Amino acid sequence: MPDFASLSLSQSLLSVVAELGYERPTPIQVASLPPLLAGRDLVGQSKTGSGKTAAFALPILQSLDVETRILQALVVCPTRELCAQVARELRKLGRKHAGLAVVEIAGGQPIKPQVSALERGVHVVVGTPGRLLDHVQRGSMDTRALTTVVLDEADRMLDMGFQADMEAILASLPRPRQTVFFSATFPTSIEALSRQYQRDAVHVTIDEVHDELPEIWQAQLAVERDDKLPGLLWLLAQHAHASALIFCNFKATVAELQTRMRSMGLSVDSFHGDLEQYQRDQVLAKFRNGSIRNLIATDVAGRGIDVEDLELVVNYELPAQAEIYVHRIGRTGRAGKQGRAVSLVSSRDGARLKAIAALTGAPVPALDAPQWSSLELGQLAKAVAREASMATILISGGRKDKVRPGDILGALTGEAGGLRGTDIGKIEIHDRLSYVAVSRALGAKATQSLNLGRIKGKRFKATLV
Ligand code: ADP
Ligand code: MG
Repeated sequence: MPDFASLSLSQSLLSVVAELGYERPTPIQVASLPPLLAGRDLVGQSKTGSGKTAAFALPILQSLDVETRILQALVVCPTRELCAQVARELRKLGRKHAGLAVVEIAGGQPIKPQVSALERGVHVVVGTPGRLLDHVQRGSMDTRALTTVVLDEADRMLDMGFQADMEAILASLPRPRQTVFFSATFPTSIEALSRQYQRDAVHVTIDEVHDELPEIWQAQLAVERDDKLPGLLWLLAQHAHASALIFCNFKATVAELQTRMRSMGLSVDSFHGDLEQYQRDQVLAKFRNGSIRNLIATDVAGRGIDVEDLELVVNYELPAQAEIYVHRIGRTGRAGKQGRAVSLVSSRDGARLKAIAALTGAPVPALDAPQWSSLELGQLAKAVAREASMATILISGGRKDKVRPGDILGALTGEAGGLRGTDIGKIEIHDRLSYVAVSRALGAKATQSLNLGRIKGKRFKATLV
């Protein structure tokens, strides 16, 4: 592993890093610092807690001209808390930059002091998308001398419906400039953003599959090969999970399992290669926002599933390759939270379990389970049959219709909507449509009020999907 001194950092930054007790650069820092110091655009992906902040903060500081009190770098973060964290890290690493001015420009704060701070002159701004865009539009933030923009937690900002704001900010900034994205995951939406706003970007992905394993609680459950359903239901009943992703090896198994579970009155959907693109989008939006609790998928389709906070992965069947097992279970336990992965195994899975143990470095522990035969299938189903907490409304307007998350929120919570903010979940804005999650009990009422009312003065069709 290289040390900081080999990464072309200035003497003063090297001494700060040493003072802070950073002994070695983390892998994302090793890979990102040289291209960033050379002024390249970059997409960096590594898990939470891997040191992404310093990976972009050090290059920003190194190229900063502190003598001139003018905005040179902008960092965009999803929340006020993250802005505060990033600003803190910048100030910490910039402790030898006398007179360094880092300003936080987050929403939910009074705007006047922000305007005054910007007027006094700053070197670096760290802010949330909506509020930054406000300042861009008011002309209170002079970006003419800006050389670097970083979108930190780009995946989360996209998830939170900030895409239009992010794009408007990027479009407003001068060129040429250095454009940097950091993210814990790499959804295709970031790829699209990269193509549009970056030039010849370096892509850095730190494969953390093996690192991540300790955070995932793994187990195997022995079941009779000819009927795994009771085992699956027992398992689902044991875990008070909000969301479970159930993997099968074949499309046909997915379809059969879905049919059987639905016939027992269970809330379950499937995700496989035969779905049209719009159906895939819809299923995923519903899974992400809590409107679908149990999703059955094949590996092919499962590759597109990018869900934060996935609590449980079930291998209804073990895959033929151990690498696929690792990919499947890597979908849980993200963002530093402990995930769970349970595999239903039969006596014929011995070789597959051995290959998995060899790859992951440890055998998968066995779960103690009751005898299925002694348990009524119907009784198990009853224990699992909890409704999803949310319902999804599809709205026939999106980004290209100038619909923003705040507009939908406004339509639902205003006088016309009558919902409380706490009844509204995730809002996803796509090009020509949007999905909004609302408390399940209010789904019909909310859909009706959206159909009767207007969003941004226009009528859109709302459908409970
Ligand atoms: P990420 O943005 O990837 O989630 P952070 O940048 O917040 O991670 O870093 C996590 C923690 O690791 C922070 O407390 C940071 O100060 C510390 N850190 C960063 N780089 C190093 C390093 N090279 N050595 C030791 N600690 C580090
Ligand atoms: Mg971070």
